[in-house]
Amino acid sequence: MGPRSGDPVALRLMERALDAQGLRHTLPRRTILEVVAAMGHPFTPSELTEQVAQRDPHIGRASVFRLLQLLRGCGLVERLHGPDGELYTLCLATEHHHHVTCTVCGRTATFSLEDDAAVGRAVERIGYRMDHHVLQVFGVCPACRDQEQPSLPPEGPR
Ligand SMILES: [Zn+2]
Ligand SMILES: [Zn+2]
Ligand SMILES: [Zn+2]
Repeated sequence: MGPRSGDPVALRLMERALDAQGLRHTLPRRTILEVVAAMGHPFTPSELTEQVAQRDPHIGRASVFRLLQLLRGCGLVERLHGPDGELYTLCLATEHHHHVTCTVCGRTATFSLEDDAAVGRAVERIGYRMDHHVLQVFGVCPACRDQEQPSLPPEGPR
């Protein structure tokens, strides 16, 4: 589904972020980054490990997972909720944003709220002070909506 070769911009950003952490350039590291950059939509650590193993069977799960956590620490990979557990996604958005995930195909996009401060006000009403928030919406993406069968006649006037 996703692009065959990774997004070169994403690849460069990840390399730079890991360089800033003082990490050595290695071939396994490059391979894992290329696979992450080529992932078209959010992935489980197992999916990532499998795809990395197809490129180089000597790269183990522990190396993949360690690099994934480092990328997450750099803010280039984010952890999302998926239907069966946690998913990871490459995300280059730098401004505060939220994610919407398709419940059919898993495609994920980012969006922002017109009145983002409303989230803080809502919890203040029940006595909390907001430090930060994470918001993820689930729905059906435009491509999957196009595939939807024409539905039964509408249930009458609203
Ligand atoms: Zn994001
Ligand atoms: Zn979809
Ligand atoms: Zn927000």
